[in-house]
Amino acid sequence: LKNRKIAVLGSRSVGKSSMIVQFTESQFIESYYPTIESTFTKPVTYKGTEYTCEIIDTAGQDEYSLLGPKHAIGIHGFVLVYSITSRKSFDMIQVIYDKIIDFCGVMDIPCVIVGSKMDLDSSRQVQTEEGESLADRNKAAWVETSAKNNVNVAKVFELCLAEIEKR
Ligand code: GDP
Ligand code: MG
Repeated sequence: LKNRKIAVLGSRSVGKSSMIVQFTESQFIESYYPTIESTFTKPVTYKGTEYTCEIIDTAGQDEYSLLGPKHAIGIHGFVLVYSITSRKSFDMIQVIYDKIIDFCGVMDIPCVIVGSKMDLDSSRQVQTEEGESLADRNKAAWVETSAKNNVNVAKVFELCLAEIEKR
């Protein structure tokens, strides 16, 4: 059983907790989860290998947040979440990515960039092409999700395991 630590980062209220709860508990609660840090564990079989995913939910970052050792040391993979309905949250992704690179002192990291809330297409502020090209530039995987409708949520964690195994 391979243990994999995955940190989920991104602006407040982009749907980090909702995505993790949908993945680990198969439910969506239409309310704002408290911004406490917690760890969720879920066994995942991917490409014939059994993993224990330790998913670290974070309170949310902004341009002034310092990236702590808790979010970098011993972390195998990173999930960086923006909401397709928030340009500001999208702009934060590069800021957070650069902080991780800086902190870890490496060139690149196993990373999945997630455009959340894709069910809210009528309020879309970030186009799919923008998400894709941001991911390309940073050699990260990318996917759009809906925690509400459970679209591509499991895919996020599969992509993350794949990115981890690549290195
Ligand atoms: P966090 O601060 O990033 O952990 O965000 P939360 O998971 O607490 O979600 C913030 C708000 O966005 C809550 O009201 C959620 O119900 C809502 N939300 C989260 N994911 C989705 C989604 O996929 N679709 C829609 N429509 N709302 C979502
Ligand atoms: Mg949260």
